[in-house]
Amino acid sequence: MSATLNPVADTTGSRLKGLKCRECGSRYDHAPVHVCEVCFGPLEVEYDYDAIGRTLDRATIEAREPTMWRYAELLPLDSVPEKALPIGYTPLIKADRLAKRLGLRELYVKSDHVCHPTLSFKDRVVAMAVARARDFGFDTFACASTGNLANAVAAAAAALGMKAYVFIPHDLEDQKIYGTLVYGAKVVKIKGTYDEVNRLCAEIGDKYNWGFANVNLRPYYAEGSKTYAFEIAEQLGWRTPDHVVSPMAGGSLINKIRKAWKELELLGLLEAPTQTKFHGAQAEGCAPIVEAVRAGRELIKPVKQPNTIARSLAIGNPADGFYAARCIRETGGFGAAPNDDEIREAMLLLAETEGIFTETAGGVTVAATRKLIEEGHINRDESVVICVTGQGLKTMDAVVPALETPQIISPNLSEFDALTKE
Ligand SMILES: *Cc1c(COP(=O)(O)O)cnc(C)c1O
Ligand SMILES: [Zn+2]
Repeated sequence: MSATLNPVADTTGSRLKGLKCRECGSRYDHAPVHVCEVCFGPLEVEYDYDAIGRTLDRATIEAREPTMWRYAELLPLDSVPEKALPIGYTPLIKADRLAKRLGLRELYVKSDHVCHPTLSFKDRVVAMAVARARDFGFDTFACASTGNLANAVAAAAAALGMKAYVFIPHDLEDQKIYGTLVYGAKVVKIKGTYDEVNRLCAEIGDKYNWGFANVNLRPYYAEGSKTYAFEIAEQLGWRTPDHVVSPMAGGSLINKIRKAWKELELLGLLEAPTQTKFHGAQAEGCAPIVEAVRAGRELIKPVKQPNTIARSLAIGNPADGFYAARCIRETGGFGAAPNDDEIREAMLLLAETEGIFTETAGGVTVAATRKLIEEGHINRDESVVICVTGQGLKTMDAVVPALETPQIISPNLSEFDALTKE
C-alpha cells in the first residue's frame, strides 16, 4: 500500500534547509553525516517554518490517510517516498482502568506496540533513514541495535529490495533476533555491550560506505520520532497533556516529542501553548539519564555493564542523554528507574487492566509512572500520557517467571469440575 498523496513536493519544495549543528549553529548540505566538523556537536535537520506554515493547517492534515505520512511537511524528506508503508497512526487509548489502579484522573496510553510493520515505534524512525539511504545511493542499510531497530531495519530493507546488515549485542532476546532474520537480513552478534557495537558500526560505516540508520543517517532517523508526538496531540484534539512519561534508551525519542509539540505550537496548530512536563523512564540496571536527573547534575555518567531485562533500553552511554536530561529539567519533569521485578509487575498490570501487552520497555514506563505519582512529581488530577513503544510478544521470556502455569486435565467434564472446586 502506498500513500495517495505527495504533499511535500507539490507545495513547499523549499521548506528543508539542510543540517545544522545543535551547539555552534554551523550549517551543512544534506549528507550522511551526524557530527559537526567544527565542534563535534550533533547535527539536526533545519526547516523553514514560514514556508510550511503557509500551506499546512489542521484540516489538511485531518483529510489525509491515517499514517505517519500525514505530517509529511514536518519530516526531513523532499517528498513522500513512492513506496511509503502505512506506518504509525496507532491508537491513543483512554486507560481508565489503569488510571484507577494508579490513582489518576485522566490517563492515556499511546500504543506503538501495534505499529506497522514490526510492532515498535522504530518503524517510524527507520522510514526516514531508509528513504535517505536510498537518496544518498547506499546499497546496504544497516544499524546498531538493542533489538527493535534491528526488526524495523530488516523489514524496511526487505520491502525496498535493499541489503541489510544488523549488529547487536550477543545476548539479545531470541524473539528479536528471529524477528530480524526472517526478513533475510544478515545479523552479526557482537561480544560486547551496545556501546561497543555502536563504536564498531561507526568504523564499518566509514570503511564500507553503508547507510547506518542510527549512525551516519541519525539526523534524519531521529526526526521520525516526531510523528509519535504529532499523533498524540492530534488525538487529544490538538492539545498536549500535562505530563508525558517516555522511555529512554539513547534519549532521542523524549527530545523529539518535545520538538514535535513545539513545532505544532509554532505553526499555530495547537489549541493552547504546550506546557507539558516531560518525565523519563529507564530501568534501574541501566539508568544513566535518570541518575543524572535525580542527582541534579548535568553530566551523564555512562553505565559500563547494563544489567536489566529491559534490553531495548540498555544503552550505557546514551548519545542524546545530555539533551534528554535537559528536556526533563527545563520542562519541570523528573525521572524514575524501576527494578526488574517492578518492570515485570507493571507489564502484567497494563495487560490485565487495559488488554495491552507491551515489551519490557513499556513495563519500565508504567512502573516509572507509578513511582513518579507516589513521589508527587505527577499530580493525580492532571492528564498523563504513557508512551508504550514496543510489543510484549518480543520479550515473552521476561514475563514467564511471573505467569501462572496452566492446569492440564483429560478431556472430561468431571476433571474440570474437580478443578473448579479447588
Ligand atoms: C529504542 C527504543 C526506545 C528509546 O529510544 P531512544 O530514542 O533511543 O531513547 C524506547 N522504547 C523502545 C521499545 C525502543 O526500542
Ligand atoms: Zn558545531
